[in-house]
Amino acid sequence: MPEGMLIVLSGPSGAGKGTLCSQLLKRRPELVLSVSVTTRPPRPGEIDGVSYYFTDEARFKKMIDAGEFLEWAKVYNNYYGTPKKFVEEQLKQGKDVILEIDIQGARQVKKNCPNAVFIFILPPDIEELKKRIIKRGSENKESFDLRVKSAEEELKAMYDYDYAVVNDVVEEAVKKLESIILAERCRVKRNKELLQLVRKEGCQS
Ligand code: 5GP
Repeated sequence: MPEGMLIVLSGPSGAGKGTLCSQLLKRRPELVLSVSVTTRPPRPGEIDGVSYYFTDEARFKKMIDAGEFLEWAKVYNNYYGTPKKFVEEQLKQGKDVILEIDIQGARQVKKNCPNAVFIFILPPDIEELKKRIIKRGSENKESFDLRVKSAEEELKAMYDYDYAVVNDVVEEAVKKLESIILAERCRVKRNKELLQLVRKEGCQS
């Protein structure tokens, strides 16, 4: 069975990655979203094991030492990491897995999994980004300022990605994500087994 594809989504806080991911999963239920581990406290409405696996710093550091992360990073003063075992199992089963991670984590993935697809999500402009973070209502002044300041730096990282999707109209942005994934699935390098199939058919006739 061919391995699944790893899809990395990054973008500044407030770009709307979470909304796009959940809409994308509705349209393409065969996709699997990796649930990260974090030391950030849960926001109202977030569920342990669904939004994130919430943990403390000591446990997170033990997981780093035990090599349990595919990648991990400290983002806005908290730790975040992708559980390696889950992702590897899903890929082996031929499933395409989405990682919604920051630019530091994406760099680690690029080093270790160069065949992954890297997509950068942008807000239409910085004012809209600020509005979206405020609307979420989950950040205090300090965290808001940090997220806006980091956004400028994060936007520069876009050039290391394969695709850029502006999240202006959600429906349109989701269509673009879906199109990228469908096209990536057709790449010759991901379809080597088709050659064997054609050869086999050729011999039989
Ligand atoms: P938030 O606190 O808003 O949920 O996430 C903050 C940032 O952490 C976002 O940019 C998000 O993409 C990133 N993030 C979430 N999970 C992971 C992860 O497992 N690894 C890395 N490197 N970043 C993550």
